Amino acid sequence: MPDINTTPLRDFIVATTAVLREQPDEAQALDRVGTLLSALVAHDGWLPDDLAAPDPARYRQYLLHADPQGLFSVVSFVWGPGQSTPVHDHTVWGLIGMLRGEEVSQPYGLDAQGHAVPQGQPSKLTQGAVEAVSPRIGDIHRVANAFDDRVSISIHVYGANIGTVHRHVYAQDGTVKPFVSGYSNTSLPNLWGAAA
Ligand code: FE
Repeated sequence: MPDINTTPLRDFIVATTAVLREQPDEAQALDRVGTLLSALVAHDGWLPDDLAAPDPARYRQYLLHADPQGLFSVVSFVWGPGQSTPVHDHTVWGLIGMLRGEEVSQPYGLDAQGHAVPQGQPSKLTQGAVEAVSPRIGDIHRVANAFDDRVSISIHVYGANIGTVHRHVYAQDGTVKPFVSGYSNTSLPNLWGAAA
């Protein structure tokens, strides 16, 4: 496999760590990390192929970095053609930056019975665009690859180690199921360059 230059990802992780160690409030965190994420997804070419590989059966979530103190995590979210999530929440703030292709997000709200119902119009995330979620600004959505004939990839940043967070899927019959997403990969990207 040709060497991928992961320097943009490393620089993003270093800068995001510095921002979040200042303990900004959520709005500031979304604004400042969102600006960094926007710069990261403006250019492709830094994501190793094994962390960009789709699965024919299900979308994949590859861990790119987990802050040791749980301040944040970075994930590559890889959509096969036509794949989509169930309706779900995050319970922490999150940022989604579109690296390749496009995805569509339909926001949901909870009705009086606690059932998730579509709320507002779906938004389409095009290459380079960044979107935010959180319990404060809207945390429940259903997301899908906008394409049924090619892979799309978005880079996600969350204010916790998202693969370990207890959250919820809202089934069509109104039931709410707890879930923990975990991660698809067994090894992390090499952020420090190939051997000389
Ligand atoms: Fe989500």
